[in-house]
Amino acid sequence: MRTKIIAGNWKMNKDVRESRDLIQQLREKIGPAMDPRVCVIIFPPFTSLLLASELIKGSHLRLGAQNMSEHDDGAFTGEISCRMLTSVGCGYVILGHSERRQFFGETNGTTNRKAKKAFSCGLTPVICVGESLEQREQGVTRQVVGSQVRESIDGLSTSLMAHLILAYEPVWAIGTGRNATPAQAQEIHHYIREIISEIHGEKESQKVAILYGGSVKADNAKDLLTQKDIDGALVGGACLQASSFLSIIAAGRV
Ligand code: PEP
Repeated sequence: MRTKIIAGNWKMNKDVRESRDLIQQLREKIGPAMDPRVCVIIFPPFTSLLLASELIKGSHLRLGAQNMSEHDDGAFTGEISCRMLTSVGCGYVILGHSERRQFFGETNGTTNRKAKKAFSCGLTPVICVGESLEQREQGVTRQVVGSQVRESIDGLSTSLMAHLILAYEPVWAIGTGRNATPAQAQEIHHYIREIISEIHGEKESQKVAILYGGSVKADNAKDLLTQKDIDGALVGGACLQASSFLSIIAAGRV
């Protein structure tokens, strides 16, 4: 049995007080007992990370950040380094999210450099890929996602595959309420695994966790999470309320 990863990307939501409320509600319901079926990771905004790391102590919730700099330190106003993230208890970092690509000019190249930096600090990168609606309609989904995967993981060693998390997030499904069907998602997840297999071999490709993201909700989570190549979910909107996030976590216990 493979552990499903249920990750909650809070985006630019929740101040410190709201973060405390949400984490306390999650803690209460998830309880202290280890569940080998699911690994739950929350990605609050930077300003809540230190508080979050205190609040999750003694629980099996894990902590990550939504972005980080490719640089170690220095004159990069407004940026956050990987060492800063590990110092507040982060174990994970989302990289190359489509909103970073769309609004902040991030590319496969920046994602690749950040992924290498994250690994060098002991952070697990969650690398996001996904096609736009226009690209899907033009029939170039595989080409787009294929280059995003190849370029974002370029130069990573085979031994890192067991620690890599990828998230397939079709841009047309993010925040739109329109999720990919389980079959559409499975097809691209399988394709991503084939790419990893080509580069690093079949055995290692099986070790990479590939999450689906894009309008995952309580009522579609189970159908998505039971697909062969879907190892978990990256959840946006539905992770902001404890009740809906907990239902998705429950769907992961399959
Ligand atoms: C996301 O932004 O990573 C995401 C999947 O958002 P939503 O679940 O709201 O579509």
